[in-house]
Amino acid sequence: MARASVLLIYTGGTIGMKTDPATGVLRPFDFNDIYTEFPALRTLDVEIEIYDGIEPIDSSNVTPDLWVRLAEVIRDHYMRFDGFVVLHGTDTMSFTASALSFMLENLAKPVVFTGSQIPIGVLRTDGRENLITAIEIAAATHEGRPIVPEVTIYFQNKLFRANRTTKRSAEQLNAFGSDNYPPLADVGVTIHYNMPYIHRNDFDSPALNISTELCRDVAIVKIFPGLTEPVFRAMLSIPRLKGVVLETYGSGNAPTYAWFTRAVAEAVARGVVVLNVTQCPGGGVAQLYETGLALQQAGAIGGGDMTTEAAVTKLMYVLGRNPDRKSAEKQLNNPIKGEFTK
Ligand code: ASP
Repeated sequence: MARASVLLIYTGGTIGMKTDPATGVLRPFDFNDIYTEFPALRTLDVEIEIYDGIEPIDSSNVTPDLWVRLAEVIRDHYMRFDGFVVLHGTDTMSFTASALSFMLENLAKPVVFTGSQIPIGVLRTDGRENLITAIEIAAATHEGRPIVPEVTIYFQNKLFRANRTTKRSAEQLNAFGSDNYPPLADVGVTIHYNMPYIHRNDFDSPALNISTELCRDVAIVKIFPGLTEPVFRAMLSIPRLKGVVLETYGSGNAPTYAWFTRAVAEAVARGVVVLNVTQCPGGGVAQLYETGLALQQAGAIGGGDMTTEAAVTKLMYVLGRNPDRKSAEKQLNNPIKGEFTK
C-alpha cells in the first residue's frame, strides 16, 4: 500500500522559530530542512511535503485574507494529499481554524492545526511532539478512510474539534481548551480516538468546495456592568455593520433596561444580525431568564454553547454568502460543522 501523504503548511508563529547557535537570537526555522532537524520523522510511514508559499507572520496579524489563502491552498492540493497540517501561531489559531471549518465545505480529509508555546528550535519545545503527532493524526486511516475528517487543533496530547476551542493560557503548554465538547483524541502512549464524537462523512460525500466570500462588517460586543447607552448605541451603529456577536452573561443574560433592549431591537430592525453567546468558557446561552428572553424578543439569535471564535467566524461565513435574512437565521440557528450543541 502507498504511504500516506501529508501537506505541511507553515503560516508562522512561535513554532517556526529556532535559536541561532552563533548569536543566541531566535530566527525562523526552515521547514524545508525538517528531516535534517528531526531525522526521526523518517520513521513515520508518511510522505511529508512542505508548502512554504505563505509569508510567515505572527498570528496577531492574521486577517481573513489568510483564511482565504489557506482554503485555496488546501483546495489546490486536495486530491494529491491524504491530510493537511497547518502550523499557526497560537494567539489566533482558534479563529483561523474555526473559520476554515466553515469555509471547507464537504471536507472529507483531516486538516490539523498545531503550533507551540516554546519555539521548535529551543530544547524544551512543545512543538516537536505537537508537530509529529499532528502529522500522524492527519495521516491516520482506518479501513482505508481517514479517521478524523474534520478541521481540528492538536495541542499537548489532545485533539479538539477546531470550532470548539479557545486559547486559554498564555503560559501553560496545554494552551487550548474545549469546555463544551470532548476531545476527539487523547494522546498518551497510543493515540486513543473518541470515535463517537468524530464527525464522519458519508463514503461518497460530494467534492470539496471552498466558500471564500466572508463578510467583514461584523463586530464583537462584550457587555459589562457600567456599559452606557451612548457607548452601546455607538457600537451597534457602526456604518455598514451587518452582524454582531453579543457576549452576554451566564446563560445568555443581559440588562433589562428599556434602552438596552430597544437598542438591540433597533439594530435588528436595521438588518443587523445579533448573535448572543456567553462570556462563560463553559455552558451556553439558554435565554431562559427574563434577562435572556428580552434579548430573544428583541430579535437576538441564541448561539447555544458556541465559542466567540466560532460565532464571529460563522457570522462572517454565513453573511458573506449574502443570504436573505431568513436563511441566514436558519443557518445560525443550526449547527453547520458541529460548532454548538443542539
Ligand atoms: N504571538 C505568537 C503567534 O500567535 C504566539 C504563538 O505562536 O504561540 O503568532
